[in-house]
Amino acid sequence: MEVRKGIEVSGIVQGVGFRPYVYRLASELKLAGTIANTAAGVTIEVQGANDAVASFVTRLPQELPPLARVTAVEVCDLPCNGDHALRILPSRVGEEHRALISPDVAVCADCLRELFDPADRRYHYPFINCTNCGPRFTIVRDIPYDRARTSMASFRMCPACQREYDDPRNRRFHAQPNACWDCGPQVELWDERGTGISTLNPIAETAARLQAGAVVAVKGLGGFHLAADATNPAAVERLRERKRRVGKPFAIMARDLACVEQFCRVDDLTRALLLSPERPIVLLPKRQPNPIAEAVAPFIQELGVFLPYTPLHHLLFAGGDFPALVMTSGNLSEEPIAIENLEAVARLAGLADVFLVHNRDILLRCDDSVVRASAGRVRQLRRSRGYVPVPVFLGEELPPVLAVGGELKNTICLTKGRHAFMSQHIGDLENLESYRFFEEAVRHLKGILQIAPEVLAYDLHPDYFSTRWALAQTGIEWVGVQHHHAHVASCMAENHLEGKVIGFALDGTGYGTDGHVWGGEVLLADYRGFERAAHFAYMPMPGGAAAIHEPWRMAVSYLWRHFGEAFLDFRIPFVERLDRRRAEVLLRMMNQGVNSPLTSSCGRLFDAVAALVGIRDRVTYEAQAAIELEMAIGNSQDDAAYPLALVPDGPGWLIETRPLFEALVEDLRHGHATGEISRRFHNGLVEGFARLAVMSRERTRLNRVCLSGGTFQNLYLLEHLRARLDAHGFEVFTHAEVPAGDGGLSLGQALVAAHCTR
Ligand SMILES: [Zn+2]
Ligand SMILES: [Zn+2]
Repeated sequence: MEVRKGIEVSGIVQGVGFRPYVYRLASELKLAGTIANTAAGVTIEVQGANDAVASFVTRLPQELPPLARVTAVEVCDLPCNGDHALRILPSRVGEEHRALISPDVAVCADCLRELFDPADRRYHYPFINCTNCGPRFTIVRDIPYDRARTSMASFRMCPACQREYDDPRNRRFHAQPNACWDCGPQVELWDERGTGISTLNPIAETAARLQAGAVVAVKGLGGFHLAADATNPAAVERLRERKRRVGKPFAIMARDLACVEQFCRVDDLTRALLLSPERPIVLLPKRQPNPIAEAVAPFIQELGVFLPYTPLHHLLFAGGDFPALVMTSGNLSEEPIAIENLEAVARLAGLADVFLVHNRDILLRCDDSVVRASAGRVRQLRRSRGYVPVPVFLGEELPPVLAVGGELKNTICLTKGRHAFMSQHIGDLENLESYRFFEEAVRHLKGILQIAPEVLAYDLHPDYFSTRWALAQTGIEWVGVQHHHAHVASCMAENHLEGKVIGFALDGTGYGTDGHVWGGEVLLADYRGFERAAHFAYMPMPGGAAAIHEPWRMAVSYLWRHFGEAFLDFRIPFVERLDRRRAEVLLRMMNQGVNSPLTSSCGRLFDAVAALVGIRDRVTYEAQAAIELEMAIGNSQDDAAYPLALVPDGPGWLIETRPLFEALVEDLRHGHATGEISRRFHNGLVEGFARLAVMSRERTRLNRVCLSGGTFQNLYLLEHLRARLDAHGFEVFTHAEVPAGDGGLSLGQALVAAHCTR
């Protein structure tokens, strides 16, 4: 018997070879019917023998192409008609935009083979791609995802490309960025003033210049990189000076996996990450010795490494014999990445010697993603290219909310149904370019997702740019969300939790409801609200923001709070080398309560300890002292732990650090090794936090613990605390898909706001 069925598929089903896949499956089963992209996803009608149609419906979600992600399939019965052919219909515009756009995808193995095949018509063509690979998110202007609505619209396909594009059996069927030497984008090499350099092979010429030590701006998928030979110390130093980046590590792009294994220790999970189509930067432990210039990642035992992900990258490596290139965002420190050719020449003047540009426009900037693996799990540090705009799937339906994130490592989040769409990394909202990028990201994401938010969530800090922007919007309901509440809610959301949890939110800075700077918080929280169960006792930050840049100030603050001015007589190296005059200025400030805001920050505690043990008095990037303090643990094996005092305070507790500092100063007096001291400090936090969790459980009967905030990017703390809590029988939830730091804040804000307005 013949039947006809209609099937609506939603999810990531456009631009990922989904329709050819459906076409092949239907022809294999000898079915007739139609396949069409709609703004909502893909609509299929199939007609044929009853069991063939049934088999089609069963197999459809089971044999998907690699990049497709199906979130819903709806099937209905239709009356049979005289259909005998199988056809793919042209896209329809209009109705609601629910189709999900795929992220940018690293060049696939099939395309790579053609790229290096002298007999192929795309031999060495730097923009080769197919439905399984290539740019997506960064070239899309609007949906449905069709060539006319991408930055490929201006390139008219040649007959050969058009034939591939029209053939449902071809790997390039409806590959929107499809192109070749004859019809597609081209590269050019420009000098520092933007004038073309005459050369037959701009990529080979670029490789030769990199080999000779030049700094080159290379246009990639989501923006420009600044590239330099990572094994050439002079080139790396030059790049550091020009970029005005003092100590923050650079990422390197390695030629291939074998090269990575020379520099770093790689295991199965990190190998899979390096080779994944998302191609993130993976943080890996360095091998010693290694050929990478020390200035790439000074003072730390990790390297951020990724593999080539565009055909252009592969051609660059084929043209030179460097094992790795520094590939850092094309910007001055903390500004957004440059994307347009002329913008790059203007903004990167003086940074790059030459520019390798091309004429396929990047419509949306998107930095590289950064991940780390620990205890068999992937942890996002910066969720951007390759992952965005795949939504975070939620455990419940939400109304449309726009959450604007925090100030540093900003991201925004838009919710719709069970999807939370987090933007790419926008960065630190401290300069005009970042504001513009922020506004552009809000506008673009709202546009391509067709979301009209009803609620606007923002951080309580009155001076954050994102807060001021939010409060200037009209005709929308506002919800201010406390920073650490948002962190805990973000962890809950990613783990699909409902109800109340014990939330540890540990980080550097967040505005508290009492106007003080919070950052070492234990909250009893659900999405609707929270109670502050415990926090570190307040400490003055002498000099305000200066105390964030100069950890030695926090060391003085803790010593003064715990020991009074008697600490000036301690026979420990930190005090002996202390500039007395400057220290006395701080003491006066703190005594008089001038320019010394109070903080319960866990990040500042790490800073104080790092300065006290002699690791670092000043930082040049966020969390540097804390990262180096963690690294200092090295191979030290020691179970001792510095004690924390948990002092009853209302219904909760104050975490007092005096006993910790007494023990630490004693160890410094006896000349203990830095690694050992760092380990004892970390162990002390683990024990103290575990005790707090147990005491909170006794009080509340809550058994679920969420760990969130930037401090949990510290793997020693994260893994040891998690193990300890497991041993106490807690259910422990951590971040994986969403960053634990401020990059994950917008998700939590969205959940809190959605629940507060219900
Ligand atoms: Zn491909
Ligand atoms: Zn062509």
